[in-house]
This record gives sequence, C-alpha cells and structure tokens, in this order.
Amino acid sequence: MDHFNYRDGRLHAEDVPLARIATEVGTPVYIYSAATLTRHFGLFRQALAWTDHLVCFAVKANSNLAVLKLLGDLGAGMDVVSGGEYARAKAAGVPGERIVFSGVGKTPAEMRQALEGGIRQFNVESEPELAVLSEIAAGMGLEAPIAIRVNPDVDAKTHEKIATGKSENKFGIPIARAREVYAQAAALPGIRVVGVDMHIGSQLTDLDPFRQAYTKMAGLVCTLRTEGHTITRLDMGGGLGIPYRRDNSAPPLPIEYGEVIRETVGDLGCEIEIEPGRNIVGNAGLLVSQVIYVKEGEGRDFLILDSAMNDLLRPAMYGAHHDIVPLAEPSVGAEFRPYDVVGPVCETGDTFQKGASLPALAAGDLIAFRSAGAYGAVMASEYNTRPLVPEVLVSGDQFAVIRARPTIDEILSRDTMPAWL
Ligand SMILES: *Cc1c(COP(=O)(O)O)cnc(C)c1O
Repeated sequence: MDHFNYRDGRLHAEDVPLARIATEVGTPVYIYSAATLTRHFGLFRQALAWTDHLVCFAVKANSNLAVLKLLGDLGAGMDVVSGGEYARAKAAGVPGERIVFSGVGKTPAEMRQALEGGIRQFNVESEPELAVLSEIAAGMGLEAPIAIRVNPDVDAKTHEKIATGKSENKFGIPIARAREVYAQAAALPGIRVVGVDMHIGSQLTDLDPFRQAYTKMAGLVCTLRTEGHTITRLDMGGGLGIPYRRDNSAPPLPIEYGEVIRETVGDLGCEIEIEPGRNIVGNAGLLVSQVIYVKEGEGRDFLILDSAMNDLLRPAMYGAHHDIVPLAEPSVGAEFRPYDVVGPVCETGDTFQKGASLPALAAGDLIAFRSAGAYGAVMASEYNTRPLVPEVLVSGDQFAVIRARPTIDEILSRDTMPAWL
C-alpha cells in the first residue's frame, strides 16, 4: 500500500496534487511520500518484533539525505557500500553504531573512514579484504567488528543482474570455505568476529530461496560456535521484492519474511539485522514526466516524454517494468490505446514500455512512473547533458525540494579547461 491515489480526478501524493509539484518544480521530477516510507519501515520492524533487531536501510536504493534522515529518525540503521554512502548516513544524523559497511571492494581509505567515524560492523567479502582491514584497524589500535558474507549457493530466482547468492557470483565467501576463513579471522589482531552475513539478491518474489539460504546459515552458526567463535549477530541481507505491476500477484509481505527468519534462525539467540532497500522506498516514489510529443508511427503511436533512460535506468538496464499512469484520472468508460513510451535520448534502449495501455494523451499532459523510489534517482546520470532529476518529499499537505535540478551552467562549470588548451 502506498499514499499515491486519485482524488477529485487528480493523482495525489498524500494530500498534494502531483500536478502542483510538476508546475512548481518542473518535470521530470522524482516525488517521494514520507507516510509511505514510514509505513514500510514500520512493517519490517513489526516483522522482527519477536527479537532484538536492527533494520538497516540499504542506502544504495535511495541515498537522498532527507530520505535517510527520515528513516534514521525512526530508528533505522544504514547499510552502506561506499565511503560516500557512509558520509551520507553520518550527514543524515545516523550514528556509526547503526551503520553496516557492505561491498566487495572496500578500499583502505574507506575502512579508515568508517573506523574513525564509528561502525557497527564490516561485512567482509574476501580473505584479502580481511587481511587489509586487520592491518588498518590494528594500526589504529582498534579491533574491527566483522561478519563474513557467506555465499550460500542458492538460486534467488530473480533477474540475473541482481542475483548475488550463486557460487558463480562475485559476492561473499563460498559456504564450504567459511570455517577456514572464520579461523583466519579469529587469528588476526585487528579483527573481532561478531556475526555471519548473507545477501542473496534483489527483487525476490518467493520466500523459498531465503528459507534455503537461512537454513544453511543456521547450520553454519552451530558449526562456528562449536569451533569457538562467538556469533551474536546475523545479517540476513535485503532483497524482498515489491509489486511492480498493480495487476500481478503480490510478492510476500515483510511479516511473512520475518516468519521465515524466525523459523530458520530464531532459536540461535542472535540479534537480527536486515538490509531492505527496494521494499522500503520503491513504492514510496514516483517519477513524474511530461509528454513532449505524440508521434504517429507505423502501426503504433509513440509517446515521447521529457524523461529518459538517464533519469530512470531500470527499463533499459534490466528490462524492468514500471506501471505508467496519467496524472489526470481517466474518466469512466475512457478508451485506452497502446503507446510505445520512449524518452528523447538517441538510443533505441531509451524505451520505457512498449504497448502501454493509456487513455488518449496529448503534448503537455503529465504521467507518472510508479514504483520508482528505489534504484531510480540514485542510478540517474547526466547522459546527453540532461540535468539530474530533482527530488521532492511530500508529507501530508506539504512538500519540499530535497535535491534541486542543477542548471546547465552548473553542469558546464564542473568541467575545467587545461591551461595548455
Ligand atoms: C543491494 C543490497 C541490499 C538491498 O537490496 P534490496 O533488494 O534493495 O532490498 C542489501 N544488502 C546488500 C549487501 C546489497 O548489496
């Protein structure tokens, strides 16, 4: 459930008509609903209410400072994958004790930054990383708290570009080698083992892969304990999918996901961490765009928008579907027709949807891509020198620009000319 609904014939975010934001801020524009963010975060907390837990929002899904502050103020931890994201979490007021550092390629500088600023745990993904982290922490007179990311070799049954838990993927340490690597970790001076970490992929619409992975995790925890390791924390990763199509069967609910965690690892006495990104913010955001032209093609009409693949990359990158809806509610009995919805960028991949069923639209009309709050603005680029899309946060009847659209002058001023040219 989200807070984007038609009222009096106009699509609203909470109590604000989206067309009003489009007029004041311009298009394209990302619009987020604070009430929806709050609701989704609450659902995960509820799902883990049976135990000690921390819900760490995956910052990479949406890293706007206002979004991070809203979630951080509700008590969320943050899962970061770069020094930049770490800095964002801190700037949003989240204390280091609630920040988890994930990612396969942490640099020594990033490790130092997190150790200095405070960190809950590093999720370590390889032996070389373990060695470097130990050296840096020991050099600072510290012990870095770590979990090792274990690759359980399960098929997450999701898009191949976002599956991470198969043995062929670059992530984590093969579960068969976990004992050996934990023994290494325990022997290192700058390392303190606190837990086990897994993250098997994104946009999972079936609980079974989670169940398989977490069952393997439970077995591993028992083995590690027998070998003398203190395991007090389990990081279950993120990945719970969201409905991208209104008319489709819904993915499992956070409460059902929480049950799978309880059934598989609930009796180990560990604190539970989860790292949802998409599920908290995906359906809390829309991308609003204007029709520039309706172009008649052979056998199809093209809806040419002022947003493009550089603004919302998921369709071009993953063949992802985003429901498209007009901001003006279609009248009862309105005739729908198929459109190929495209952007102005000079690539055929700049196609959002083929044969989208929409009421007749004309130049100047406004539409919204639903479910665009996650992996939307964060993946945007300035390809074709198109300014980064601004972001707006709505709460009740108020809204605020939380990232302004850069001017073309600002974009040009970032380039510098060599003195010899
Ligand atoms: C991407 C990622 C997440 C979040 O995944 P979602 O599908 O957005 O929930 C969590 N943890 C790690 C390590 C990730 O890489």
